[in-house]
Amino acid sequence: MVLILRKNAEEKQLKNLIEWLKNQGLDVHLSKGRYQTIIGLIGDVSAIDIELLKGLNIVESVMRISEPYKNANRKFHPDDTVLDVCGIKIGGGHFNVIAGPCSVESTEQIIEVAKSVKKSGATLLRGGAFKPRTSPYAFQGHREKGIQMLLEAKKETGLPIVTEIMDVGSLPLFEDVDIIQVGARNMQNFELLKELGMTRKPILLKRGLANTLNEFLMSAEYIMAGGNSNVILCERGIRTFETSTRNTLDIAAVPLLKQYSHLPVLVDPSHASGIAQIVPPLSLAAIAAGADGIMVEVHNDPEKALSDGAQSLNPAQFDELMQDVKKMLTIFTDRKLVEIREEER
Ligand code: PEP
Ligand code: MN
Repeated sequence: MVLILRKNAEEKQLKNLIEWLKNQGLDVHLSKGRYQTIIGLIGDVSAIDIELLKGLNIVESVMRISEPYKNANRKFHPDDTVLDVCGIKIGGGHFNVIAGPCSVESTEQIIEVAKSVKKSGATLLRGGAFKPRTSPYAFQGHREKGIQMLLEAKKETGLPIVTEIMDVGSLPLFEDVDIIQVGARNMQNFELLKELGMTRKPILLKRGLANTLNEFLMSAEYIMAGGNSNVILCERGIRTFETSTRNTLDIAAVPLLKQYSHLPVLVDPSHASGIAQIVPPLSLAAIAAGADGIMVEVHNDPEKALSDGAQSLNPAQFDELMQDVKKMLTIFTDRKLVEIREEER
């Protein structure tokens, strides 16, 4: 249930109301937006007398929320959530490009890629240290050493790092990681989500291969229910009957997620397609659909990549894509590419 308050609500009245609601056994979520102050109620609201609440002079209206996700719901929190990751804003008009290889392969490689993507305008660096591979015989990632390599690249370039966690047990290794990614295969690893909810780390949550938007938002809710509201959603393609692409990019998910939720929404055109050549048009489609950013795989030498070479852009292709991204963003004045200024580092 959501209470929308009148603009002139006094602090004292607000305090009394919150206290009363808490005494009814409800969790109270106060959101003071630019235009509106709202109170979200979580818990059993069946015994609450809506008419009584509507009658209070500080309450403008009362809405029952039927969606099972509350914290992630835009009705609960009408303004866009804006994350701050090492001074870089994500969401609410701040467009970000996360770029880097599928897997971190060596310190030299990740530094080289980090420098080149930064030069082209990327705002964050990605790279897998723990890799969820379909085959147990495929490269599994350099694990904790991979995280150290990413930290080296961060030291060299200042780019914040994004890397995937696969199990609760390795969480202590992610202390210095700026954004923890939960991959598609772990979107419903509820114990992991709960544990991440207890941290205050920004979490990049990718949509599962065969999950609905409702399930996706419920997974975000798992993290948020623990008190961690730093969640970024990432559409990365879903399984369909189509085999021409690795997955099918669900472009409709972008405007719908933006409508349902206040969380930033990114698109990963690399895993969505599996084909480097179509990563640029899908990236531009993501911008047109309203995404708050993209995550693109970039490798210094895609043909020799230890994972996902076929979908990785080389640095020159990425640079070209960034030119188009910048041009495209001039059409959509609601979002601006975040700029990393050297002097800030
Ligand atoms: C990745 O981003 O490295 C990855 C494994 O993606 P996904 O979980 O979307 O398959
Ligand atoms: Mn990959």
